[in-house]
Amino acid sequence: MVQIKSVGIIGAGQMGAGIAHVCALAGYDVLLHDVSEEKIIAGRSLIEKNLSRQVVKGAIAQDALDAAMARIKPAPELQTIGQTDLAIEAATENEEVKKTIFKALTPHLSADTILASNTSSISITRLGAASDRPERFIGLHFMNPVPLMNLVEIIRGIATDAATYETAVNFAKSLGKTTANAEDFPAFIVNRILVPMINEAIYTLYEGVGTVDAIDTALKLGANHPMGPLELGDFIGLDTVLSIMNVLYEGLADSKYRPCPLLVKYVEAGWLGRKAGRGFYDYRGEKPVPTR
Ligand code: NAD
Repeated sequence: MVQIKSVGIIGAGQMGAGIAHVCALAGYDVLLHDVSEEKIIAGRSLIEKNLSRQVVKGAIAQDALDAAMARIKPAPELQTIGQTDLAIEAATENEEVKKTIFKALTPHLSADTILASNTSSISITRLGAASDRPERFIGLHFMNPVPLMNLVEIIRGIATDAATYETAVNFAKSLGKTTANAEDFPAFIVNRILVPMINEAIYTLYEGVGTVDAIDTALKLGANHPMGPLELGDFIGLDTVLSIMNVLYEGLADSKYRPCPLLVKYVEAGWLGRKAGRGFYDYRGEKPVPTR
């Protein structure tokens, strides 16, 4: 088993920032990479904001915030990530983007570096094949928001070796997380079940069965869900929801996974949910307001 001390994170969006946050709090040295310095700075600011919230709630001390922020170093050059013990890719949910990252990173990797992807749906076996080390490649699927959600889904590709699996499980546990193993099939466990439900909620809206408010209220009060499905879609990011539906639709070749045309329209409009300020709700005012 490899001893993990340093973690490289590729993609400083909502998930990459969340993973960096929990790794730094747990004492790992973190290198954070994205396509531009501005994105890395935005990721670090998001981490600092979220750590500050934990300080205000009394969950962590100010010293822990300061130490965690000091451990997170910007890595504008992708190649520096190759020197870390564990490189976790958390870039946009697009197979070509992810494969291009792994191909570009491969020549700069230390012999022992373990590669992981935080993909929500894409084949770990296919992504691993884009690197030089499918046996040391694994799916580490964190949940959003990472500091609050306890699960990490662990997905082994066809070639992932036992030592890499053990290291990944111990790493997730060292962050205080619980793991669940999923086989490498489209969208694994959580999103195989969750994302078609969100897509069905969008069909329910599209067909006029209920309004945004009625659908979310119905599932919150009628099924005891903490968030309504449309609110949850906005929270995940509608581009990510659409990508996952496409992976399910193409990967399982079953028409029951077809993405709702209304979901496609929102993504085409750039109304990607919370991160874009607008999705099924408009977040630009004081309170979210339904957009339909
Ligand atoms: P996001 O849009 O918030 O962030 C994606 C980041 O990747 C952006 O900052 C973008 O600039 C960066 N990026 C794109 N191309 C890149 C490249 N070539 N090199 C480096 N960085 C690049 O998306 P997110 O919600 O953080 O999702 C990231 C990954 O995490 C996806 O694979 C997604 O499926 C997965 N995921 C998302 C959720 C969720 O609820 N949003 C939950 C679990 C897993």
